[in-house]
Amino acid sequence: MKARYSVIVPMFNEEQVISHTYERLKKVMDECGDTYELVFVNDGSRDRSAQMIREICERDEHVKLIDFSRNFGHQVAITAGMDYAEGQAVVVIDADLQDPPEVILQMIEKWKEGYDVVYAKRLKRHGETMFKKVTAKLFYRLLSSMTSVDIPTDTGDFRLIDRKVCDVLRGLKEKNRYVRGLVSWVGFKQTMVEYEREERFAGETKYPLKKMIRFALDGITSFSHKPLKIATYIGFFLSFSSFLYLFFVLFQRIFFTSWTVPGWASIVGVNLLFNGIVLMLLGVIGEYIGRIYDESKDRPLYIVSETKGYQNEEQLDRR
Ligand code: UDP
Ligand code: MG
Repeated sequence: MKARYSVIVPMFNEEQVISHTYERLKKVMDECGDTYELVFVNDGSRDRSAQMIREICERDEHVKLIDFSRNFGHQVAITAGMDYAEGQAVVVIDADLQDPPEVILQMIEKWKEGYDVVYAKRLKRHGETMFKKVTAKLFYRLLSSMTSVDIPTDTGDFRLIDRKVCDVLRGLKEKNRYVRGLVSWVGFKQTMVEYEREERFAGETKYPLKKMIRFALDGITSFSHKPLKIATYIGFFLSFSSFLYLFFVLFQRIFFTSWTVPGWASIVGVNLLFNGIVLMLLGVIGEYIGRIYDESKDRPLYIVSETKGYQNEEQLDRR
């Protein structure tokens, strides 16, 4: 029988929490009084996470494992989960128990009221570094000032989506995925529940600074051309001011010949400054071109090395 609810859990090196996560999710989902499946997407963990889920699969038929051939990233893992999920309502939740599974029941209530997307807004974030909180806050504000899509601030990927939204999202094949933005972009009837984000149950964050920056760039470049526009404006401004300066230089050269020799500092200064800015703007353009290149290669988003928990091929065919 097809499950009514699918819970997607992306995991990357989560051996310290994953069995607790399973227990708590199971408890909550047993309470919801309907059929469900727990889809664990192993994003190339190098620890025992996958093995642990494999063992749970043996004794619990609700549990499924999608094992990636390597680490493809959090957002891609979520996407894969959506490809495999069969439920009428699909929930995405982090593996580290920062998103309390109990909130899922509230989401389901809202879904039954007729909402197609129920996202969870973080009122507070416990046990995260000041740096993370501040950068996250700034990022969400910056993003919303740059895009015309109304992406709710302070929400992660913890959310419930209806089958029809899931199907639409599956049709969006862009490679640099910023899932929470895509969910806003597709529209439908959306609402939210509020919660307090808890401390990580165990282990440490799998989002080091490098991944955070990449994530932020994906978010902005997927939903905004503003950086390109800003690049153009700065370009115009620089050309205009250089033009004015040129007048000044010519004026000096013609009327005050004796002053022109000590111009060395200003030439070097202007050169350094302008070259820096030009390189930076080239970088902005490069970010976009790199993404266009990624899209044009048209490689699959992820590679699955193994699936477990599916009784027959037919169940897998729906991908
Ligand atoms: N994750 C993943 N692939 C990655 C990085 C993270 O699947 O490359 C998963 C991770 O296991 C967790 C979720 O994404 O379930 C969120 O990661 P994390 O809790 O480390 O991020 P934070 O809460 O610190 O932002
Ligand atoms: Mg976390």
